[in-house]
Order: sequence, then structure tokens, then C-alpha cells
Amino acid sequence: MSISVQRRGLMLVLSSPSGAGKSTISRALLADDPELSMSVSVTTRKPRPGEVDGKDYFFISVAEHERMVRDNELLEHAKVFDNLYGTPRAYVQKVLSSGKDILFDIDWQGTQKLTAGTREDVVTIFILPPSHDELDRRLRARAQDSDEVVRGRMARAADEMSHFAEYDYVVINTEIEKSIAQVRTILAAERLRRTRQPGLVDFVNQLRGGRSPNR
Ligand code: 5GP
Repeated sequence: MSISVQRRGLMLVLSSPSGAGKSTISRALLADDPELSMSVSVTTRKPRPGEVDGKDYFFISVAEHERMVRDNELLEHAKVFDNLYGTPRAYVQKVLSSGKDILFDIDWQGTQKLTAGTREDVVTIFILPPSHDELDRRLRARAQDSDEVVRGRMARAADEMSHFAEYDYVVINTEIEKSIAQVRTILAAERLRRTRQPGLVDFVNQLRGGRSPNR
């Protein structure tokens, strides 16, 4: 028997320095969870090889980004490295109002802005690499960016990681399968929070034989 109790959608934020494994974890979560979809950000940076417009990002011009900010179409926006990023508001609202969850791959600045607005609907996870050497290796292995970009990311990884204490959960990504399982566990537990299940009042009422739950 499957019982469905109406619940509120949540916003699951994953942040990490580049190269800590965040994208792999996101992909694994999205692949087998129909209740979860990805917030696709806008960015003014150029697509990397293999990136698809509308799937990885919406690649837009600086002028278009400015227009979206002006017209209040972005839930949050930030400058990361030398590029502008932002979270389109409309999609997030649509998903949440249908009782589904939404996954964000955004940096600490975006996370601060999201939590400032709607704290109770946001769950934040910071992913850390297992060691400095491993982070260094993973950044170089990526090799899609120029040396200058890689150097810039190395320098900023330390900065990004200094924000770990602003997050609800921290996962150290030593083994990717284990990290994926840990993030799934966090999501499963957060979905069961009583405050995220407004349908419980009716459900318990039925269990009690149709009486008002306060009686
Ligand atoms: P990349 O250019 O490597 O895809 O992303 C660079 C950084 O920008 C990552 O830390 C990523 O989490 C962050 N980022 C991507 N989209 C957004 C967004 O919409 N808002 C904010 N604040 N950060 C974002």
C-alpha cells in the first residue's frame, strides 16, 4: 500500500570548491529521484566543451543578465570568478508549489541569499575534498580550462572552503559512492521533517476516525 501525504518541496543546496565532486553527486541524485529536479542557472561565461545550453546552464550575455536582475527574474545572483551567475526565479517557484524538491549547485554567496529569504525551505550541504593534494589533482585532471583559470580556481578554493561553517551539513568526499549515499540520506531525512508535511494533519485525523486532531 502506498500512502502519500502532501508535503512542501525543499531547496537542497550543494556547494563546494571546484573539483570536490559536487557535479558527480548532483548527477547521481537526479538520475534516480523523480521528486528532485535541478535549478538551471544563467551564466555569462562561455560554455565548456560538452556543456549544453538549457541543461548545464542558460548561457546569456551580460546585457541579458542585467535585464533579468532589473526585472527581478533572478532569485539570487552573484559574480563568481569573473562571470555573472543567477538562479531563475520562475522555475523554482513552479517546482516548489508542486510539492517537489529542487537541487542547486551554487556558491556560498548564492546560498547566503537563498537562506536569508526562505530559511525553513532550504537545506544546505557543503562538499569538501578529502585532502589538499587530491583537490589539486582533481582540478588539474579536469583540464578543460586554461592554466590561468585552473590557477584562479586553486586560489579561490581556499576562500570557498572558509564558508563551510555556514552550512547545515558537511560531506567529505573521499569515496564518491559513499558521499552520494550520505547526501541521499540527508535528503530522505529532511523530507520527513514534520514541518514539511502539512498533509499530516488530515492523515492523522483520518487515522483517528475522522475526529479533529485537536480533540
Ligand atoms: P562553474 O563556472 O565552474 O560551472 O561554476 C563556478 C561556481 O559558480 C560554482 O561554485 C557554482 O556553484 C557557482 N554557481 C553556478 N551557478 C550559480 C548561481 O546561479 N548562483 C550562484 N551564486 N553561484 C552559482
